[in-house]
Amino acid sequence: MKFCSHCGASLVVKIPPGEDRERHVCDQCGTIHYQNPKIIAGCIPEWEDRILLCRRAIEPRLGLWTLPAGFMELGETLEQAATRETLEEACAEVDELQLYTVLSLPHVDQVHVFFRSRLIRPDFAPGVESLETALFHESEIPWEELAFSTVRKTLRDFFQDRRQGSFTVRVTHLPPATGAAKIRSTDTSRSGAGRNVAKT
Ligand SMILES: [Zn+2]
Repeated sequence: MKFCSHCGASLVVKIPPGEDRERHVCDQCGTIHYQNPKIIAGCIPEWEDRILLCRRAIEPRLGLWTLPAGFMELGETLEQAATRETLEEACAEVDELQLYTVLSLPHVDQVHVFFRSRLIRPDFAPGVESLETALFHESEIPWEELAFSTVRKTLRDFFQDRRQGSFTVRVTHLPPATGAAKIRSTDTSRSGAGRNVAKT
């Protein structure tokens, strides 16, 4: 951020009076330009015992599979964002949303939130950001081709909870995982993942 979006003057980075960290500040008009994490909302769309996934047509992670999810827009609720993204990426309608995972990614300043949801009917198709959409049984999930660590964590927890017959809302955080190799290595050591699970 270089210029003030209010008056166009150059911004300086400094700690404003009464605050405890550096901000982008406009000395001309006095505006403090706060930067805060972005929220990504998505769904785990269920149809009978299968889950709807999308194969990404865009970077990052083009060609890999993901749950439908995306950046929350101004003026919408979390549930609206998750529902909208599912419609946009998979042309699929969902209802009965239930909060399931809340995953902080402080290294990229994001929070990912996934809802369990019911596919209203088994109609879906690739949206403009998807190459392919498909329903997967647990045994068919392409674990080595998932786009994001938050999707992997959410699906692992989902199938584990489903086998046990009850779902617990999980609030946790994930470390950086930048490539497919890194994602695979975290997967093999995920036995301790439950330590971070907070029951609500
Ligand atoms: Zn200004």
